[in-house]
Amino acid sequence: MARKRVSRRSALKAGVTAGAAMFAAAPAIAQNAQGGRRFRAFVRHGTTAGVEELRLRPLEPRQVLVRTQATAPCYTIVAASLATTPAQQAQVPNHCGFGVVEDVGAMVRRVQKGDRVVVAGTSQCGVCFQCLHGNPDYCQFTFGGDVWSPYAEMSDGTPVFAAAGVGGLAELMVTLEDYCCPVFTDLPATELTLLGDQLTSGFSAGHSAMRFEPGSNVVVFGAGPVGVGVIQAGKVLGAGQVIAIDPVRYRRDFALKMGATTVLDPAVDPDTLVDRIRELCKAPTDRKLAGGHTYTKQGFAAAARGADFAVECAGLQVFPPRVEAQPDPTGVLPVKQAWECTRMGGHVMLMGLVRQDVSFPGVSLALLGRTIHPGQQGGLHMMRDLPRMIRLMEKGRIDAKSMITRTYSIDATRQAIQDCADRTIMIGVVTYS
Ligand SMILES: [Zn+2]
Ligand SMILES: [Zn+2]
Repeated sequence: MARKRVSRRSALKAGVTAGAAMFAAAPAIAQNAQGGRRFRAFVRHGTTAGVEELRLRPLEPRQVLVRTQATAPCYTIVAASLATTPAQQAQVPNHCGFGVVEDVGAMVRRVQKGDRVVVAGTSQCGVCFQCLHGNPDYCQFTFGGDVWSPYAEMSDGTPVFAAAGVGGLAELMVTLEDYCCPVFTDLPATELTLLGDQLTSGFSAGHSAMRFEPGSNVVVFGAGPVGVGVIQAGKVLGAGQVIAIDPVRYRRDFALKMGATTVLDPAVDPDTLVDRIRELCKAPTDRKLAGGHTYTKQGFAAAARGADFAVECAGLQVFPPRVEAQPDPTGVLPVKQAWECTRMGGHVMLMGLVRQDVSFPGVSLALLGRTIHPGQQGGLHMMRDLPRMIRLMEKGRIDAKSMITRTYSIDATRQAIQDCADRTIMIGVVTYS
């Protein structure tokens, strides 16, 4: 069969939004030595999930092949990864990872063979509509699942997709260059992989999107891996106090070690939680003409006190944990509490990915001047922000190492995901030799 030639210009124009079609139409560009290579991966297929050997398909022109060194499963993948519901297609879970570039497609410019790269949950292509409008946290290549073609096959030929265009829980990742941030540091892979997702999401909330101010009151709902990132942003950016709220005792203790100044258990007297936060955030005087503010327990004046910055990253509870449970498993309650505890004119970010509708009083939305920030990876600009975070890690001002509770071999991937679901660990990292 004659091969149809595709010009570089038309291939560029097509981009990866037409990835599968372009691959089919452009074998002259897409064929390369990686096709057929065997590797092991944690695969979710039908109602099963486990480690299997896969065969790689040839790289597409803008794809990068990364030999994975370390990947931290995210809580958002636990239900799908443990195969509690049937999967439509075979998929390698997880939307982040860290490793070394082994090969690149013909059109890749950002990374080279041998580069160490963070593969982040959020891409930054630099040229799509969102990137050009200053919103690379909404880069149109992020969550590439709908435009992705299979990158591997199971032994029976079943095509395998990479979750979110990354598929981090495998010996090899195939992703677009737009997800890859080359790093130039000696920090270990186990720590750098936390920059692909959880730690970065929390740190970016404070650093990139909300821009915590020195001396400010920061409140974080949920002291899991994302919340600890928020706490570290509060510490680095000089917050006056960082109040961390979590029902799990070991997470409250850990939050204090990582920079929280006060911790609260939301399960204890939940009806007064917002009032207690407001009390902690009160100004040193109630004299308005001296820079203070008046306060009443009811009505609009109640919002005179409260968080300058509140971040909700408690989320919903997918499975009953093997530690203390959340007061509201749907995660709606901490969203409402984060909103209510924010002072008039303050900032609130909602990151927890709750599945239910959330409502706020319309008058308060209009008149209290609170700014709601969307929580898509904390507003990350990955090519700008990750090198900054690495510099802070090298100086010891961001502590990724202490967040890693356990490391796992590839054969223990399922256990790593289960421990994440059980919330018995802060972060588990699967390492690859
Ligand atoms: Zn995640
Ligand atoms: Zn983009």
